[in-house]
Amino acid sequence: MSEEANPFESLQEQIRDAAEYVDADDGVLRRLSRPERVLETNLTIERDDGTLDTFRAYRSQFNGDRGPYKGGIRYHPGVDKDEVKALSGWMVYKTAVVDIPYGGGKGGIAVDPRDLSMDELERLTRSFAKELRPVIGEDQDIPAPDVNTGQREMNWIKDTYEKLENTTAPGVITGKAIDSGGSEGRVEATGRSVMLTSREAFDYLGKRIEGASVAVQGYGNAGSVAAKLLESELGANVVAVSDSSGAVYHEGGLDAAAVRDHKDETGAVTGYDGAKEELTNEELLTLDVDLLIPAALENAIDGDLAHDVQADVVVEAANGPLTPDADDVLTERGVHVFPDILANAGGVTVSYFEWVQNRQRFYWAEEKVNEELERHIVDAFDGLIQAYESYDIPNFRTAAYVVGLQRVLKSYREGGSWP
Ligand code: NAD
Repeated sequence: MSEEANPFESLQEQIRDAAEYVDADDGVLRRLSRPERVLETNLTIERDDGTLDTFRAYRSQFNGDRGPYKGGIRYHPGVDKDEVKALSGWMVYKTAVVDIPYGGGKGGIAVDPRDLSMDELERLTRSFAKELRPVIGEDQDIPAPDVNTGQREMNWIKDTYEKLENTTAPGVITGKAIDSGGSEGRVEATGRSVMLTSREAFDYLGKRIEGASVAVQGYGNAGSVAAKLLESELGANVVAVSDSSGAVYHEGGLDAAAVRDHKDETGAVTGYDGAKEELTNEELLTLDVDLLIPAALENAIDGDLAHDVQADVVVEAANGPLTPDADDVLTERGVHVFPDILANAGGVTVSYFEWVQNRQRFYWAEEKVNEELERHIVDAFDGLIQAYESYDIPNFRTAAYVVGLQRVLKSYREGGSWP
């Protein structure tokens, strides 16, 4: 991974690129290029051996013009303020692209959760929830899962918030387990929107997705579900997948679900016996495939590596997997990149459905969730293509930011800003 690209600077560059096609003065753009506020705090917990340990944690509320701040909580040693700020900004444009009534936020703790026992993780999560309590709420800021967090952590945060507030407020957080007010279809939603975006992209480009070769970098929630659905629903041929242990490859196709089972059992995709070869992550990213899906972390492909990417189409499951340099190189080389703020927006879209169900205390069947998700992603894809064609924009990412920026500006202008 490249060390040089600061994700917050990448975000600002992406906004500047889009601003060339949008009527907005510099003052307004400056306002939309940095967070409204960032909570930065130290969480001290007691370890199982009785000693104390302290972890740095953040919550960035980037922009709330279109509704409550919305975005995940990440547990990773690489979490820092600029990463959280960038991720919260991407959420603003993502919620606008899929046109759901939210702003953008993001949070994280600089921790490797593998170093903590489950009791320690619970204490850490509840301590974060206590710090977050004054700034989150069903109508203020609604966190969700991200890297290394899931239903368990969301349930702890909901429970802590509700106990402290002496209320029931399941809509304060999304990505919960079904029995704690979660939505059907939420776990699969991000991978599903990656699959739907890939389908629409291939259709738009006049390519066949059935039988298309696919490589997936990062085999967690987003990547493994995308691979499974591409295989099972569209007949694509998933030839390579990876995680932090390395990559597995079979030109005739892996069985995406079986690799996931192997990873669940052993903790890694490597060692999967249906593979023909093991590769490095860099080799996976430069395989000659029809579709490449980066689904791990930011900056997976930098300007240098972008020269070696051989895929025709890149669909971003991860947030910010390409540096701006990589974006320029791929645009120049005619590689079609479909951006994160559309492709992985299924997670936040079904989070929105979860919140709607929580507010109404009325729960939907999975078919309805998936139908509504498909409608949102297809509409968003069409809106992006409309902007791409009518403004003659050089790439799909800038087109997505143009759509998002226009929607945020419209809310700001119509509502004004006080004080
Ligand atoms: P996850 O923790 O479930 O999976 C991440 C995977 O990436 C793991 O398998 C890990 O081993 C792998 N990985 C880490 N570093 C790697 C490297 N250098 N090379 C290859 N693999 C590597 O996380 P996730 O929820 O699937 O999130 C992945 C990305 O998708 C993140 O960028 C996240 O922000 C984004 N995303 C996730 C969701 C969601 O709902 N889960 C929604 C939107 C965006």
